[in-house]
Amino acid sequence: MPDENPGRTPYIAGNWKLWGTRAQAADYCERLLPLLFEADGRRPDVGLCVPYTSIETVATALAGSGVVVAAQNMHQAETGAYTGEVSAAMLLELGAGAVVLGHSERRQLFGETDRALTEKVPAALAAGLQPILCVGETEEEREAGDMERKLRHQVQEGLEQVDDGRLADVVIAYEPIWAIGTGKVATPDQAQEATSFVRALVGDRSRAAAERVRVLYGGSVKPENAGEILEQADIDGALVGGASLDPDSFARIVAAAG
Ligand code: PEP
Repeated sequence: MPDENPGRTPYIAGNWKLWGTRAQAADYCERLLPLLFEADGRRPDVGLCVPYTSIETVATALAGSGVVVAAQNMHQAETGAYTGEVSAAMLLELGAGAVVLGHSERRQLFGETDRALTEKVPAALAAGLQPILCVGETEEEREAGDMERKLRHQVQEGLEQVDDGRLADVVIAYEPIWAIGTGKVATPDQAQEATSFVRALVGDRSRAAAERVRVLYGGSVKPENAGEILEQADIDGALVGGASLDPDSFARIVAAAG
């Protein structure tokens, strides 16, 4: 990672999406652990965003390794008539330390709204979970010159109810929707431009937070392209979907951030 970011620890998070029985999750962890942190040098923070059913299994298997287990969604309420939902306290009890909020698949396929995220992000923080807030534009929005408008809206709404003093505790993942699961990775310049814009949006609230907040890139990151993406000045890590399902390729991406 670039020397110009000495204060921001790189963060590599794997997103399993809908993958992994508990048996598969335990096997994955057993294979991943010996591959992590082989090299000397700076250790990135590492997270695994897993289905609810595997959180406890993964937290137990990775206990003491420093790897954070994240959920892929949560409800903002503590309790109530919300069939099928889970709360921050329920996730914490299983051993989760973080939660992905506003992933584009939740937004596009399951009706996640910026309004709900306005409540989810502070609810996660208040409970002691680190929110990983996902933002990003569609291909049509990019082509229509609407990327900045879209990112501004998503970042402002997601952070609206977060105190300035806690802004840097949120991790923001810039994930262009056209690059997720498509094999179409953003060029390093495109990724840098958008992550720097996201950081500037945080800076509109607090300059100090903008210096400290971690902004990740997500979208078809693989061991082969991780290095050139991670060396961009405003990119502090990666949210990795498909390539995180293989422990070997995930560990190689982690090594690229070290
Ligand atoms: C993701 O799930 O957030 C993601 C970026 O997926 P992929 O790496 O497969 O594009």
